[in-house]
Amino acid sequence: MKLINLKWQQLILSLGCLLLMIACKSFYPTTNPNTKLLKVATDPTFIPFEIQRASGNLEGFDIDLINAIAKVAGFAVQFESLPFDGMISTLQAKRVDAAISGITITTERLKTIAFSRPYFKAGLAITVREDNQNIKDFNSLKGKKIAVQIGSTGADFAKTIPNAKISTFNSGPEFFQDLLNGNVDAVVSDAFATLYAIKNGKLQGIRVVADLLTQEYYGIATPKDSPYLDAINEGIATLLSNGTYKQIYLKWFNLDPPQLPDSWALGIEKRQRGRSSLILNFKF
Ligand code: GLN
Repeated sequence: MKLINLKWQQLILSLGCLLLMIACKSFYPTTNPNTKLLKVATDPTFIPFEIQRASGNLEGFDIDLINAIAKVAGFAVQFESLPFDGMISTLQAKRVDAAISGITITTERLKTIAFSRPYFKAGLAITVREDNQNIKDFNSLKGKKIAVQIGSTGADFAKTIPNAKISTFNSGPEFFQDLLNGNVDAVVSDAFATLYAIKNGKLQGIRVVADLLTQEYYGIATPKDSPYLDAINEGIATLLSNGTYKQIYLKWFNLDPPQLPDSWALGIEKRQRGRSSLILNFKF
């Protein structure tokens, strides 16, 4: 009788332990030793794609997206803040597993790193002081004083403008002050981030020229031959088809998202002329 009692006690005890383990696992899923910790670089000055709150928390379109990808792909994300200019070389040196920071897919960058399928449709815009009616396209930028962010596609573009005098800045938002002060004639930078900065940063006296200079797509960047790229691509595909992508897009831009190409090769930056419906529909 005593022996049977002991067995029951053991059984109940084991069952109790098992239940406790299951409960712990569902409360703390990241303690799962099989969860891969993905080191992701980001530059939290590219608002609203990445924003560093006073509390230190990271937020933004890119942050929501990579967290959602991690959820479906079974990764845990560890963010590392880096200046945008150092992002490509950090990936190349494999010091991080990936980077998400509104990084445009370009032929030049594809020589040293890899990209996921495009996750955001973007483009470069010209920003001028409100009263400036002369600058409206590539040709009218010739010989002008132009501000750009160092290491960005805007900086590369500005180099192709004949006789332009280029000032470089470490992070995007800094150059608007120079434009307002009259130190430069125009800024060449990513349209969405610029429109967002003007509206939400309450910058008065500057405006975005509606004709974009380029068509660009952002991709999640990884070192070449990354073992995580397939899972990241599958994650993006899942979020596009299950409505999560649309939800995140609406949250940050209050717009329906446009169609995206399904491979990086179809999303390489190119010059373009003409009005962008994205910009005209802008209301966030
Ligand atoms: N999209 C631009 C680029 O890739 C700028 C990105 C950024 O400033 N974070 O160069």
